Formats: sequence, structure tokens, C-alpha cells
Amino acid sequence: SMENQTIPELNKEELLEKDREHMWHHMSVYNPNPMIATEAKGSWVTDIDGNRYLDAMSGLWCVNIGYGREELADAAAEQLKKMAYFPLSNSHVPAIELADKISEWLGGEYRVFFSNSGSEANEVAFKLARQYHHQNGEPGRYKFISRHRAYHGNTMGALAATGQAVRKQKYEPLAPGFLHVHPPYCYRCPFGKTEDSCGMACATLYDDVITWEGAGTVAAVIMEPAITGGGVIVPPAGYMQKVREICDKHGVLMIVDEVICGVGRSGKNFGHQNFGVQPDIITMAKGITSGYLPLSATAVRKELADKFNEPGFNQHFRHVNTFGGNPASCALAVKNMELLEKEGLVQRAEELGKELRQKLSILEDHKYVGDIRSFGFLAGLEMVEDRGTKEPAAVEKVTQVIVECKKRGLIIGRNGDTVPGFNNVLTLSPPFSTTSEELDFIVNTLKEAFDTLQ
Ligand code: PLP
Repeated sequence: SMENQTIPELNKEELLEKDREHMWHHMSVYNPNPMIATEAKGSWVTDIDGNRYLDAMSGLWCVNIGYGREELADAAAEQLKKMAYFPLSNSHVPAIELADKISEWLGGEYRVFFSNSGSEANEVAFKLARQYHHQNGEPGRYKFISRHRAYHGNTMGALAATGQAVRKQKYEPLAPGFLHVHPPYCYRCPFGKTEDSCGMACATLYDDVITWEGAGTVAAVIMEPAITGGGVIVPPAGYMQKVREICDKHGVLMIVDEVICGVGRSGKNFGHQNFGVQPDIITMAKGITSGYLPLSATAVRKELADKFNEPGFNQHFRHVNTFGGNPASCALAVKNMELLEKEGLVQRAEELGKELRQKLSILEDHKYVGDIRSFGFLAGLEMVEDRGTKEPAAVEKVTQVIVECKKRGLIIGRNGDTVPGFNNVLTLSPPFSTTSEELDFIVNTLKEAFDTLQ
């Protein structure tokens, strides 16, 4: 097997020593015992000791097609040999094909700007939105309205749009002009409403905020179709349409962050298509290459893009990006989307999502499970101390479930950061290659892990 050929050549202790000496990890600079992953195929990752794990998070919500698809490696390698690089002040074939494919998947007339990460795609969206208003005779529109709990990236603007205090507090001041409203968090309705008394104040709030801020100062709203990393918060039917109407009423643009929900994860091509709205700007990353290479895109409605195109004026978008739309990344992304089409994997994601949600119901009555939510093929289990009071589960309990899953060969995720009361949602976002048997493994392992809790 492949393990036998490669693993004995690696010296784990030596690698760990170098890791401890020189690596800077995401969540803690120094990780005393990191998993060193060496190989991956389908939904499974192998570590340096030869242990196998089902990666029910698809890395960071990105390896949608599954690991180890050689067609994708070949598409990138062929492009690298043919022409490794060319800047997009002119053009190249893979970028043209990808822009066309994205536009087709969006089902509308869009113009696509390429970058390298989800954060950058959002920065592009913010700059484009402000510039659009300048060139549309309303230069006073500079504010953005995002939501509490949302995550939109790690750069100064995208982090300003993020609605999680702990991620921002030591880096402030960030970009000015970012406001936040309550998310449509029905399990803990910020307005104290129930399903019967709902009235969707979370949506109509936008009307008030835009009005009181002064509509002429607001450039755009930004939202994910469903909040993902912020705790899998799925809006009620009609929410996105309502926000779209309010935006239209006030001349405010709608930016939809499809970095996680896009490219099939929601069970449709893009998450917003579940809600029948047309955004003005759509950002995407992660799943566009299934995580195999860095690439992101910002798709802009043609009517808006036309404002950047008037000849004889200094109206182009000033945003040079050396690596954005790298030919190998684009060629790989086109192949990824073609395979998703050919193998019916977006439809498959929808079916898998339903099956996963149904199978998760074995956890519904568990004393530490407060709420189970899903959107397409991603899910969140909100852990509580007490189902009556809904007190968020203690950090140690959530960690224990994750650790017990890992011991049994299952990688799951959690929301947020280390804020008490805001890291109690376990997350699942498995590759579309996952089988029914593997879904059973996921839920049965989760059940075992929950059953270790006192
Ligand atoms: N937007 C959302 C919804 C995300 O989940 C993320 C990353 O997790 C980003 C933006 C930022 O993407 P990146 O990490 O590629 O910069």
C-alpha cells in the first residue's frame, strides 16, 4: 500500500522537533502534539503513524469533492507545464473558462474578479461596493452592515465585518464603517420571539438600522446564506428575500459570502439559490478548488460591473493582484466544477445532507444536545448544559466530544473561538465523497463520544 512506501521514510520525532521549533499554528502558536497528516483519499486522512481519520470537516470546510482526485492534480500539472503564470491585466484560457463556468453556475450575467482567499474575495467586494457608489453619484455610501457571530475572514476589512469580538480585540482599530445586527438565530432569538410570534424582526431590523444610519451612508450588507463557522445558523424562509427588499428600498447592495456555502455545499450550486434571491456581489473560495489550490472569486452583477467600464474615464477597479486567478488554480477549479457536474455531486450533497440530518436524530434526545441544525450538507449540534435553560455547554464538555471522536478516528469541528458561551456548536461538513456507511460511522461515533459525558 501507499502507507508502506512512504511512512517509514518519515522520522516523526525529528519532524515534531522541527515543528515545535519553527511552526506557527493557527489556534496556538505552539502546538505540543500536532497531528502530522501525510496522505488523504476520499473522505479519509492518514497521519504519520498510519492512523486513519474520517475528515468530517473536509479540512476547513473546503475539500468538497473529496481527497485524492488525480484528475484535479493532472489539470493543475498540465497547466503548470503549458504556462505557469500570466497576469490578468490581459487574459489566459483557464481564467476565461472559469469565469464563464462560475457565471453559468450563478445562472445570471456576472463578471468575475479572481483573488486567492475568501478574505481577499470579501475585501474586493467591499472596495467594489464603495467604488460603485462613487461612480453612481453617491460617494457618501461607505458603511457595511454585517451580523454578530459571522466570520468573514482575517484581513482588516474582512475581520471588521466579522462579528466575533475575541477574534478582533487585539487588532483594533480595524477598518472603519462596519456595523453589525443580530443574526436570525431562532434557537436563541435575540428578540425573545418564538416560532409563532416570530415576525422576523431580525430581517426588518435592517430597515431601521439603514434608516437611522442614513441610507445615503450605507454601501452594502454582507451575509452568508447560512452562518457557518459562527455556529450553523440557518435563517427562516423569507429572511433573505426580506433583507433583499430592504436593500432595494434603500439603494444598498447585497454582498453574499458563499465562501463555505457556495459551489455545492448547500445542495444547490450556491447557497443563496435556496432562498430565491439575486445578490449584487457574490464571494467564493474554499470549495471552488475543493481546497486543492488557493483561489477565490468575487462575482459582480453585470449592471454594476458596467459602472467600471465607461471608456475615457478613470473608472477601473484599482486592485492589482499578482496571484489571483493563477492559471493552475483556475484550470484545477474548472476541472473540479466539471467533475461536480458530471458526477451529479451537487445533487448528491443535497441528498447526503438530508440523510445526515435524519441520522443525527439519534442524538436529538441527548441531555447535552440543545439543537441540531443543518443547511445542505453541513450541520451543527449545539451543546447545552441543560435543555430547559439552554445554558451553553462548558468548554470542557465540547472539547471532550471532539477528543473522543478523534480517538475513534473521526475529525469534527466547532464554532467560534475560545469564548465561553460561544464555542458550543459542533460542526460537520464532510466531503461529497462520503458514503451512507461513512455517515453511519460519523453519527455512531458522535453518539459514543456523547455517551462518555457524565
Ligand atoms: N468567509 C467565510 C464564510 C469563511 O468561512 C472564511 C474562512 O473560513 C472566509 C470568508 C475567509 O476565507 P479565507 O480563510 O480563505 O481567507
